[in-house]
Amino acid sequence: MKITAIKGFSDILPGEVEIWQAVEAKARQVFNAYNFAEIRIPILEKTELFSRSIGETTDIVEKEMYTFEDSGGDSLTLRPEATAGIARALISNGLLRGARLKLWTAGPMFRHERPQAGRFRQFHQFSVEAVGFTGPDVDAELIALGARLWQRLGITRVRLVLNSLGTSAARAQYRSALQAYFQAHESALDADSRRRLQGNPLRILDSKNPALRVLIDAAPVLTDYLDDESRQHFDSLRAMLDGIGVAYTINPRLVRGLDYYSRTVFEWITDALGAQDAVCSGGRYDGLIGQLGGEATPAVGFALGIERVVELIRQAGTVAAARPPAVYVIASGAGAEARALALAEQLREALPGQGVHMNLGGGNFKAQFRRADRSGACLALILGDAELGRGVAALKPLRREAGQSECPLADLPSRVGKMLQEESWTST
Ligand code: ATP
Ligand code: MG
Repeated sequence: MKITAIKGFSDILPGEVEIWQAVEAKARQVFNAYNFAEIRIPILEKTELFSRSIGETTDIVEKEMYTFEDSGGDSLTLRPEATAGIARALISNGLLRGARLKLWTAGPMFRHERPQAGRFRQFHQFSVEAVGFTGPDVDAELIALGARLWQRLGITRVRLVLNSLGTSAARAQYRSALQAYFQAHESALDADSRRRLQGNPLRILDSKNPALRVLIDAAPVLTDYLDDESRQHFDSLRAMLDGIGVAYTINPRLVRGLDYYSRTVFEWITDALGAQDAVCSGGRYDGLIGQLGGEATPAVGFALGIERVVELIRQAGTVAAARPPAVYVIASGAGAEARALALAEQLREALPGQGVHMNLGGGNFKAQFRRADRSGACLALILGDAELGRGVAALKPLRREAGQSECPLADLPSRVGKMLQEESWTST
């Protein structure tokens, strides 16, 4: 029996991993440009962390978590998202105390959902969080950071949707109004929505059932229940986004699936990925840290789904393939092969930014030249026993018509460095 992978868990293979590396490198640059520091947190946390933060009646906690008991009897969960873990890390490391922190992390998340295009059980996110700022300036900056990331990645088919949820008091009022409304129409609801009616009526608004569309469209609107301060916060945020030229639309039905949000919520959505239209989602979570036992600290952040971004880039074709090596080392003959290994080491020592690809497993010159060509290398270094006897190796540019020249073995590192420069070959 052939061993298989777990359903919904994917391998990221060479050929595709280059897009991931480009996304990671550019994201890192952008995070630095906005002065966000990296934090790395565990993949496994106590189950309680997620049930207390994400909310007992959310899809994630109700049915999507990978939860198990370890041999010590503790209930542990593979993280379904990173915000709760970051909040926990700030509390457990005593980093709050009025601090203002801008942090990001990246890595795998785990949700037991039905696997399909754009939806996996292990997927990856960037999570970007600003803690200790009441906003709305920091809300605007986070959104600007997202916009800059799209620009750097060459992604154009995304747009920003924005809403405000108000304070939790305002939301509680709205919740009652919504509950009353749906209760009055209970017979028209589907089973899922009827179940949500008591626990979390806001989630009925998220329903994808087309039969409920008209009913949902006529439901009370959150915007009408906003408290004055939240309204001001939202108006200022909008003015700031206008000021920096970030376009958005307001969707009063955007409520987000997680319980911990307050005031600003936003989503970058795309029309290029079919049913999975959310690429990046976030919002303000002023109550979360206090709820987890930390000192009350306002915070705002977003999570970006890397698989969906990689897919957008693949569609746009804006990322180059893997970088070929600078030098391919060809050697034939027992003495030459042994010496070539040492020469390749010398080149790697002298030219740390350059790829040096050693021909492995022998082969005649013709076969090795063919491999060198296919590797995309800039130069071939050729060593046979005859050259070795004379204390030289041959060098040949591969990316244009050119003859080969000989070089004393001792001069190889500097000569190769010079030739790469002449060929305008940049380091990896
Ligand atoms: P969706 O509505 O697609 O289920 P969500 O609201 O559950 O998304 P969040 O929890 O806010 O998503 O996560 C942020 C981002 O992570 C999403 O915008 C999406 O890009 C990505 N994401 C979420 N779940 C998955 C998944 N199962 N597979 C791949 N990417 C995902
Ligand atoms: Mg989801």
